[in-house]
Amino acid sequence: MTPTTTSADIRVTFWGAARTVTGSMHLVEVGKHKLLLDCGLYQGRRAEAWQRNKDFPFVPSDIDAVVLSHAHIDHCGNLPNLVKRGFKGPIYCTPATRDLIAVMLADSAKIQEEDASHLNRHRRPGEPTIESLYDFRDVRRTMNLTRSVPYDTEHPIARNVTARFVDAGHLLGSAMVHLKVADVASSPLAGRASAGLGDPALARPANEGKTCTITFTGDLGRKDVAILRDPAPIPPAELLISESTYGGRNHPGVEMLADDLCHVVERTSARGGRLLVPAFSLGRTQTIVFHLHQLISAGRLKRLPIFVDSPLSAAATEVFRLHPECFDEETSLLLYKDSGLFGEELVQYTRTVEESKRINDCREPCIIIAASGMCESGRILHHLKRNVGDARNTVLIIGFQAQHTLGRRLVEKRQELRILNTTCPLNAEVAVLNGFSGHAGRDEILAMLTPLADPGRKVRLVHGDPDQAELLKATLLERGFVDVAIPDRGESVTLAG
Ligand SMILES: [Zn+2]
Repeated sequence: MTPTTTSADIRVTFWGAARTVTGSMHLVEVGKHKLLLDCGLYQGRRAEAWQRNKDFPFVPSDIDAVVLSHAHIDHCGNLPNLVKRGFKGPIYCTPATRDLIAVMLADSAKIQEEDASHLNRHRRPGEPTIESLYDFRDVRRTMNLTRSVPYDTEHPIARNVTARFVDAGHLLGSAMVHLKVADVASSPLAGRASAGLGDPALARPANEGKTCTITFTGDLGRKDVAILRDPAPIPPAELLISESTYGGRNHPGVEMLADDLCHVVERTSARGGRLLVPAFSLGRTQTIVFHLHQLISAGRLKRLPIFVDSPLSAAATEVFRLHPECFDEETSLLLYKDSGLFGEELVQYTRTVEESKRINDCREPCIIIAASGMCESGRILHHLKRNVGDARNTVLIIGFQAQHTLGRRLVEKRQELRILNTTCPLNAEVAVLNGFSGHAGRDEILAMLTPLADPGRKVRLVHGDPDQAELLKATLLERGFVDVAIPDRGESVTLAG
């Protein structure tokens, strides 16, 4: 049983990304109002994930509004299901996030339908039919509810509550969410009938009487990475809900990334081989293409065919081009001089299966970038199956590879790999570049949180495996925070209003 709150209490309950890195979802209750921070898809084994995502631990129609940090599927991917199950309120996000989720959720709807038919094919006699988590109609309804709010604008989202998006530097459009809650009990608005969003009272700055503040970091990015601005300072708040993905680990610096990438391409080309890059369609693919374009424009790399074999990447890259307001100064300047930053002239984006198959006809050294990032599904599997046996080729790993994935077996350089029901010898080179992570490393998170150290501030660490979150917690306690916790799923924290 969760404790009851007074009208002035604010309670946050952690329903996802609690002691794990997937399914980000936190419920904020302000008196009778209910707001949701993120509504991510829990990703894991197919049947377990379906069950976990299907039912919400609250009534979706009771939620007044959703505030979305960014467009990665573990933060936004269950929104269409929330809508399908009765949510009708606004979904606030930055303009770039809105455009990215249009692409991401449409793709996810297809995957949901495929997953449901897979589960149905494997169900035991007598078991009920499994229904797709959502379909394109739910995605369309979801998009109708989205409201774009630019960075650094205080926007009313519920009675006495404003939200401000602050650049998180993690992905195009990614944001930290700063909530300001006016004291309901002493506010001049107290006792009035529930105000709709059209009520001018909502435009009243939430600073009359005592206010409570909450900052949710979403996913935090890194300094000095290509394309994006550095993360802005974390807005101070009474409650800090911080990600902790790399709470105990640092990444290699970003300075040598372009050089390292250049060397891998050069030595593969010199062997007459192909470079295969498994990459997530959103974020990582655009970063790699950006670096390749820069290296070729600067004359450091010879021009060679580059294929991005992913319809989703092609669509996501279109969205990048539409949002130069999210770029750092260097990229904005480059864009001013050169409109081809995302490989418009260098890269062939393949959409159809026929186009994908034609890549196999390319006889010269080339680069093939395809999803999925951990080689668990997607077109990269066909390319790996055809190419890992040839010692001239290279597989370039640029992201974290979870246990039991094909990507991890590649990193471990197993002699043989099972790919699409075929046993393939691994003769290709496997190169690993770890610096492409979109997440802040341990020292970077600490540099952002430490200036906020204050015994009166609560910190709740989410979006991290327990070992990483524990290491971050220990250091935050040394740095002057007192109330730091790693909540379990369903655990709450209360702020007195
Ligand atoms: Zn993310």
